[in-house]
Amino acid sequence: MKATEILAWLLEENPEHLRRLWILADQTRRKNVGDAVHLRGLIEFSNYCRSHCLYCGMRRERKTIPRYRMTEEEILASAKEAERRGYGTIVLQSGEDPEFDAQGLANIVRTIKQETSLAVTLSCGERSEDELAALKEAGADRYFLRFETSDRLLWKKIHPGGEQDLAHRLDLLPRLRELGYEVGSGIMVGIPGQTWSSLVEDLLWFKRLDLDMIGCGPFVPHPDTPLGREFFSLEASPYRKGDQVPNTDLVTLKVIALTRLLCPQTNIPSTTALATINSEQGYRLGLQRGANVLMVNLTPLKYRSLYEIYPAKAGIYASPQQQLQEVKNILLSLGRIAGQGPGPSLNYEERRQSQGQLWGR
Ligand code: SAH
Repeated sequence: MKATEILAWLLEENPEHLRRLWILADQTRRKNVGDAVHLRGLIEFSNYCRSHCLYCGMRRERKTIPRYRMTEEEILASAKEAERRGYGTIVLQSGEDPEFDAQGLANIVRTIKQETSLAVTLSCGERSEDELAALKEAGADRYFLRFETSDRLLWKKIHPGGEQDLAHRLDLLPRLRELGYEVGSGIMVGIPGQTWSSLVEDLLWFKRLDLDMIGCGPFVPHPDTPLGREFFSLEASPYRKGDQVPNTDLVTLKVIALTRLLCPQTNIPSTTALATINSEQGYRLGLQRGANVLMVNLTPLKYRSLYEIYPAKAGIYASPQQQLQEVKNILLSLGRIAGQGPGPSLNYEERRQSQGQLWGR
């Protein structure tokens, strides 16, 4: 698909025409990754963060949330509970918390891999290559790190502090692949200052990066962050101007559908942020328009509301049983089935196979 075609779909408003996009995405999903929806158990193990991301409610400067760190025992107990409930994968997510250095985190990963049959996905921000290698060595299977936007200037604006830059993050993703990880990335849709043409570029980057997992959600403004305040102060905000991508469920669904068309074999979640801005239909619509993965929050309830990257996150007060029931209802109504086992990305499996052939294995 060419850039002009992607842009035309992003700007399309006619529901009749859009129906074609939805059908194409759903057919492509079914043909490539089938009807199974892989469920991932999410454990948000620390909300400490050294970063300054202007959009995130856990940014270092934010003083109004209590910070928590789960203990190694708590993390292991949550992992075992995930396995007991039938999950094949857990996602260990956190802020960029230096207290969990590579060694500490590697020990946790190693124990989980020894004591369970779970696949382990890490989502703990930027780490050095040495650290990422040590974590892979300890048994981590997947790494998830969004590049957020491919617009260099916007990236710089929303990630002040100078320690990180877009080029480095985009370089890190192929490095993760070389280390043997299944690699995930993604973006936020409707960041103040995000233009349509940069969103087209984001989608082209997904393909270029040969990603195994691609997660996209709407930007959800957090009133206690600089970017949230910019969003809400209409006068000062560039938000109403013509080339601004809106942070709506409709645009997010178009991005999910186009992602499926561009990267047919990748694992695509119907994201929590999408379900946050459309609490009735978000998860369902994502699954109907290209997605094949759902994340279920297994963070202990006492910590869950503190992992506040944005407000009113979907599923924040639901018990694991309630959430699983809700997921089952959604799958049943869509005629889809829950995936069994770790549910790796087909993109990754095929890459491994062709590498095996290349090396004569
Ligand atoms: N610290 C880790 C993981 C936690 S943040 C990391 O940076 O990768 C996980 C994702 O939440 C981010 O990649 C970002 O895309 C998303 N996020 C953060 N703040 C958000 C907001 N206000 N609205 C929507 N998504 C947000």
